[in-house]
Amino acid sequence: MLNEKIIELGKNSSEIRELSEYGDKRKAEIGAEKVFDFSIGSPNVPCPDRVTQDYIDLIEKGDATAIHGYTPAPGSMETRKAVSSYINERYGIDCRPEDFYMTAGAAASLAITLKAVCGRGSQVIVLAPYFPEYKVFIENAEAETIEVSLDQESFQPDFEAMSEALNEKTAAVIVNSPNNPTGALLSEESLRKLSSMLMEAQNKFGTEIFLISDEPYRELVYDGAKLPLPLDYYNNTIVCYSYSKSLSLPGDRIGYIMVSPKADRRKDVFTAICGGGRSLGYICAPGLAQQVVAMNQGVTSDIEKYAENRDLIYDIIKKCGFETVYPAGAFYLFVKSPSGDGREFSERAKNHELLLVPSDSFGMKGYVRISYCVSREQIEKSAPAFRALAAEYGLVNN
Ligand code: PLP
Repeated sequence: MLNEKIIELGKNSSEIRELSEYGDKRKAEIGAEKVFDFSIGSPNVPCPDRVTQDYIDLIEKGDATAIHGYTPAPGSMETRKAVSSYINERYGIDCRPEDFYMTAGAAASLAITLKAVCGRGSQVIVLAPYFPEYKVFIENAEAETIEVSLDQESFQPDFEAMSEALNEKTAAVIVNSPNNPTGALLSEESLRKLSSMLMEAQNKFGTEIFLISDEPYRELVYDGAKLPLPLDYYNNTIVCYSYSKSLSLPGDRIGYIMVSPKADRRKDVFTAICGGGRSLGYICAPGLAQQVVAMNQGVTSDIEKYAENRDLIYDIIKKCGFETVYPAGAFYLFVKSPSGDGREFSERAKNHELLLVPSDSFGMKGYVRISYCVSREQIEKSAPAFRALAAEYGLVNN
């Protein structure tokens, strides 16, 4: 017998993917250059040449059985050593290779971590707007999603709502900074407040509450801004990382989970992560990609290109009279719908071949998300379409 709930999940691909598929169809109909596809967050900046060369060298010169062979379930020890020594050097912490579990990207990192820290009836707090797949992974861990809104000006948590949401069932809070879809960073002050609130709740309820830090955009911070890391503020932190964006390798499916060296039950938490991975069949992340990332710690693709794109699209959007907040990181711009309805805005934009993701599935209504990891040319050419859209709302004269 098929599982009806899972059929539903399979039927409804994410709104982002639906719009992206619509974009592909439209490009085939009228030509790719006439469609301004800002839907999906797939890096347009290529991976560094040295990454490509490492893949080539490994395949050409390596031992095929070793290159394509299984690694241990949490990943090859060589890779875990390379990652931990880089993280120690960069962040001045004291982690060990044994704190790392290599994964098939941040999605796998999150699914495993949630499976590890939740039980039936647990609750997981997410800060809205949030990456829509969190809900799927939380449900799969038999837990309930509790939404706490971010302030719509600063995109920092609403701490009153957070305090009300915390209870004895709270297993975890997920944070994501730099953020998808807002591009905002969580401030030091917010992390301090959040940490003291979580510590207080742990004491009050006699439970463990994990801070799951979803960090696929950790490297994508612009203008020399310093990114405060949850790890530095709260001991029971689990980091979910991915090389999808930082090295432009989204299809290679490679990332990791790192248990904070300061976690209260560091070893047990890691054992639970191994159990989570095993239960989901997420063992032995792609082996070739593990070897390549081990050789490229601290390397990123040309992230400055995204900062240039940000300025270009921000300028267009502001000149059109739309409301948005200048993003400090990631590659998204979160734009307020002039009508107050994100879906209506997205539908209307489609008439101008502008593909903007409505914010509804991110748990906050009234906005669209623009992914600006696209060519500079696409952004430049989209300006008249944005202007025509703005004119429909009476924001500018066309
Ligand atoms: N978390 C956030 C906030 C994301 O934006 C994404 C992908 O866009 C993921 C997780 C999943 O990343 P990955 O492709 O590495 O699985």
